[in-house]
Amino acid sequence: MASFLKIAIRNLFKRPSTDPYPFGETFVPKGLRGKAQYNPKACVACRMCEYVCAGGAIQIREVADKSGLEFILWHNTCTFCGLCEHYCPTKAIRLTEDYHTTHRQEDKYRYVEKGFIKYVNCARCNTPMVPIAPELFNVAFEQVNTEIEKLRHLCPKCRQERALQ
Ligand code: SF4
Ligand code: SF4
Repeated sequence: MASFLKIAIRNLFKRPSTDPYPFGETFVPKGLRGKAQYNPKACVACRMCEYVCAGGAIQIREVADKSGLEFILWHNTCTFCGLCEHYCPTKAIRLTEDYHTTHRQEDKYRYVEKGFIKYVNCARCNTPMVPIAPELFNVAFEQVNTEIEKLRHLCPKCRQERALQ
């Protein structure tokens, strides 16, 4: 009994050992898989993330005026599996350590990550195409020289023809 009283009195003067969250910030373990973040500048629209997404949270679609592609990720559908980040060749999508994912039910369709990839024209045939992010060439080639750099501005068909030449 005496030892119980000792512990009770000691605990009265100690700070609470529980976490203050949601009234204060909490500890974030390293490598936590939190809210996904998307960088359209590094995206090459390969759609791998959409394909592997365990929660079906990602959609990439052409916009109505056909000027480019819209990327949308519903945070409330994301299961934080990390497959999108793992398979993205350019790391245009990654999971941050941001754990603030609570939201009201009526906000679920507004709680999204959005991005837009504007088409550019092929330097040779003028066909609209998805711009090729430098990140992709950095992954594909050990050294990107000026000849390789020129390929970035060609559509897949012209690139193929140039490569054959
Ligand atoms: S972490 Fe998993 S569920 Fe979430 S967007 Fe990426 S692939 Fe989809
Ligand atoms: S985010 Fe990555 S995996 Fe998804 S379409 Fe863009 S480049 Fe491909």
